[in-house]
Amino acid sequence: MYMPIKKTKYVVITGGVMSGIGKGIVTASIGKILQSLNKKVTIIKIDPYLNWDAGTMNPFQHGEVFVTIDGVELDCDFGHYERMLDLQLLGNQNITTGQVYYEVISKERRGDFLGQTVQIIPHITDEIKRRINLVAKRSGAEVVIIEVGGTVGDIEGLPFLEAVRQLSLEVGRYNCLFVHVTFVPFPTHLREPKTKPTQHSVKELRSIGIDPSFIVCRSENPVGKGPRRKIALFCNVEERAVFTLPDLDVVYEAPLVLDGQGLGQMIPEYLDFEEKKPELLEWKETVDSFKNFEGEITIGMIGKYAELADSYISINESLKHAGAVLKRRVNIDWVNSEDFEKDPYAIERLGKYAGILIPGGFGARGTEGKILAIKFARENNVPFLGICFGMQLATVEFARNMAGLEGANSTELDQKSPHPVICILPEQVNVKNKGGTMRLGGYTAVITPGTKAYELYKTEKIVRRHRHRFEVNPEYIQILEKNGLVFSGRSEDGRLMEILELPNHPFFFGTQFHPEFDSRPAKPEPAYLGFIKAAVERELKTKIIEATS
Ligand code: GLN
Repeated sequence: MYMPIKKTKYVVITGGVMSGIGKGIVTASIGKILQSLNKKVTIIKIDPYLNWDAGTMNPFQHGEVFVTIDGVELDCDFGHYERMLDLQLLGNQNITTGQVYYEVISKERRGDFLGQTVQIIPHITDEIKRRINLVAKRSGAEVVIIEVGGTVGDIEGLPFLEAVRQLSLEVGRYNCLFVHVTFVPFPTHLREPKTKPTQHSVKELRSIGIDPSFIVCRSENPVGKGPRRKIALFCNVEERAVFTLPDLDVVYEAPLVLDGQGLGQMIPEYLDFEEKKPELLEWKETVDSFKNFEGEITIGMIGKYAELADSYISINESLKHAGAVLKRRVNIDWVNSEDFEKDPYAIERLGKYAGILIPGGFGARGTEGKILAIKFARENNVPFLGICFGMQLATVEFARNMAGLEGANSTELDQKSPHPVICILPEQVNVKNKGGTMRLGGYTAVITPGTKAYELYKTEKIVRRHRHRFEVNPEYIQILEKNGLVFSGRSEDGRLMEILELPNHPFFFGTQFHPEFDSRPAKPEPAYLGFIKAAVERELKTKIIEATS
């Protein structure tokens, strides 16, 4: 019987002019539009740096480290992809220079290339294509979107651009579409968009053999028809294929903005699909829920000085997802925990927040201030959510102030603590390499019926992603529980504490895992939803008290 060979189609996204312009959002948006055309989609992100993965990089420079369900640490763009497409992607969908060279050099040492001169072309480019092919095959996607990180013109990006150029030739013209995302500046003294940087970056791209079919202009304001026509002419693309994507209040709106200019209808033309109208009605309703609020609340997020709100983007988004469902705008105030260490009265400021959140973190600096904030939330009935490090510090706070364990601490912060309530378990003690050796990725938590956790998750087993080395010390569980702390979620073997809560508090909840990696627009993760619900209730109560006094 004749079986037509269904070829995978590719959309390759490159970036021009400068980095940090939201190429990841454009990539995710194109994925969303393809999904709305009924296509099975997956995404590969190429990061041309030499690090093996993003796990050892500074989140304050590169943004948050995202963790896949299979336990790989990678670039925060994966968060955009997963949230926008409602997918769980895998670690091998991130390809870095480090991985590619490591593989090729290992093969050379093994003798796989005996007699050959091992070179960037073809050995490195072949390895890049092999990795792309692997993802294409395993995912079963009809369209594989490849985002090439960095900016065209970077030396380290060249082998990857060469590899996708070869790929486009191999799969054929109607199976590969190049989309170039550029930055169009609006210099203040001119107040009009300048197209020259875009012209130059496309020229650079064409000089290495890639002719983009679509150009997406990222800019502060919309880029008008005139400048777009100019870009089309100078860059050898159709006029209707130059899109404008100005800064948006709600990033989830980007697919709608691009589709509104015809992108969804042009993709089938360029990739030789059957014609179909993109179906984004449901997505539009979701986007509207991020705009139409009945009120607002402010959450105090407690961190140390050097931490930036951007390095917790998945948490920020999760709070917004929960807020949108509850029709509340969620504002986030970044509070420096070191302030509480210097000035004991500063803690009172936390009373104005509808909820207090302590995110994941590493290292001793600012932790005593965080512990003071947890104490404040516990004693003043302020809804509290502690994520990973936040949960560990909540354990320390409870041990010290409620279980009489003076000097209790995590051994990450004080190795000589008389009560190491958080410690390293034997399996981590001898780990020497820092890269990829934490407890990473999806693990099951078993939830105790009758607890807040069960009320939220409504099931006995959940799988959530982890990224930590330290754990609640099993030797202290009994004494902590005897004093009223409830560990309502545990690992399947019962050894590791996954969730803690306090029964006599409006909402005091800590998770060893990172629920934020599984929150989606219109589908907030239950821990965040519970937290924001409690925060809204506190806000309403405060308003009633204010009105009656
Ligand atoms: N530093 C802590 C640990 O390694 C917490 C990590 C985190 O918050 N992601 O266990």
